[in-house]
Amino acid sequence: MRRNRNAKIIATLGPASNSPGQISALFDAGIDVFRLNFSHGSHEDHAKTHATLRQLEKECGRPVGILLDLQGPKLRVGKFAEKNIELQQGQRFDLHLEDVEGNSERVQLPHPEIFEALAVGSQLLVNDGKLRLKVVSFDQKVAQTEVIVGGEISDHKGVNVPDMYLPISPLTEKDLDDLEFGLSLGVDWVAMSFVQRPEDMEEGRRLIDGRAALMAKLEKPSAIQHLEAIVEASDAIMVARGDLGVEMPQEKVPVVQKRILKACREAGKPAIIATQMLESMIQSPVPTRAESSDVATAIYDSADAVMLSAETAVGDYPVAAVTAMNRIIYEVEQDPLYRRLVDASRPEPGKTVADAICASLHHVSHVMPICTTFTYTESGFSSFRAARERPEAPIIGCTPNINTARKLALVWGVHAVISDDMEDVPTMVRNAIEVTLREGFGELGDIIAITAGMPFGRKGTTNLLRMTRLKEFDD
Ligand code: ATP
Ligand code: MG
Ligand code: MG
Repeated sequence: MRRNRNAKIIATLGPASNSPGQISALFDAGIDVFRLNFSHGSHEDHAKTHATLRQLEKECGRPVGILLDLQGPKLRVGKFAEKNIELQQGQRFDLHLEDVEGNSERVQLPHPEIFEALAVGSQLLVNDGKLRLKVVSFDQKVAQTEVIVGGEISDHKGVNVPDMYLPISPLTEKDLDDLEFGLSLGVDWVAMSFVQRPEDMEEGRRLIDGRAALMAKLEKPSAIQHLEAIVEASDAIMVARGDLGVEMPQEKVPVVQKRILKACREAGKPAIIATQMLESMIQSPVPTRAESSDVATAIYDSADAVMLSAETAVGDYPVAAVTAMNRIIYEVEQDPLYRRLVDASRPEPGKTVADAICASLHHVSHVMPICTTFTYTESGFSSFRAARERPEAPIIGCTPNINTARKLALVWGVHAVISDDMEDVPTMVRNAIEVTLREGFGELGDIIAITAGMPFGRKGTTNLLRMTRLKEFDD
């Protein structure tokens, strides 16, 4: 089973999509990495979904990536008696520090740090900024607000207070608990929310201790100030546009998005564009033209992956959303202009043997009609570096390590395959030929390019490039 595109699709699971039947249909439609958003759902829910994903992996014989998204210090309202409440512009709406059941006049806001920082006139933005409340008066337990922009509100919607400074750490008690739980299940990627400084990532890395790869969600203006250092300290970056577009003027988001994509490409770290990509598909079976164009732009700008959130977690058309995304990516990647843009923005190779070999992969895949480029890799590093080059032929990431294969599900152009440790060059060449034919990447007579590190079985950098024709073996 192979995908017919290079950029990857991440999608969030939730009540609309976490049954085994739905998960399997979503995988067939094109999801490469499944996101478990620990902002919602219980540990029990996530454990069940995790088990379903690993079962799917067994059945389809393909590594499946699982991303644990930690809530971070996200502020949220409490629960309502009814499913949805509509707030009208001009009405009064109270926020209670203590536990109260929400209705059209009030809801809990269980964050003492907000109450301490409140001032008359402070604005609170709800649900990725869709609703706006202005504080009229407050005491230590209740804040009375006027609805400036109304709309729908429901359980646990996020709250942003861009004009207040809140002294909160990037990993809450809940995050530490969720992290240990997720790692005990065996997730492949961990995303940290509201990262502000490279030190936040170092803290995350220390806690994860090699058990998963680490992603930074960029959604605070302060993170953008330390962009290069945070990219350096992370294994991948998510442009989390939901909160980013509330924390900074939203017209700056497209500019920042392009800047982040460029920094990630330079560093060879996967970049993911997230939030509202196909938002209208929560309720509609087809995307708007503007949404299609947004996904396409991310791909033209050489994002490694694009992500679906509410569209697949709670939407009415989860499979249609993945199918639409899959089609848009495919179309862009067929466009000769896409190739020209990706090549024109190609970063200089680092001055290392591994990068010199990866640059050669790019070169040979341009000169010759090569059907795949192979990277034999233990940690996945060589496949990350090969992806940085964006070669014209898909990259097969061959690894004996299942965790590496799952991690590579996120990386541009990489089709991960589990293989035994290679003993020598002839075994490796034979393995590459067999894998290419078996996985449907080429036919007899086609040419492949293979990279690996010699001597085998020792950790080290890629130092070998071999090209060979696909042929049959007699025995
Ligand atoms: P984040 O800031 O981490 O993106 P979010 O609240 O925006 O958190 P998303 O995963 O982006 O969550 O999903 C968008 C919306 O879909 C949420 O606001 C929530 O209402 C709904 N949602 C997502 N996952 C679930 C879930 N597992 N259960 C219930 N509702 C969910
Ligand atoms: Mg968030
Ligand atoms: Mg979101």
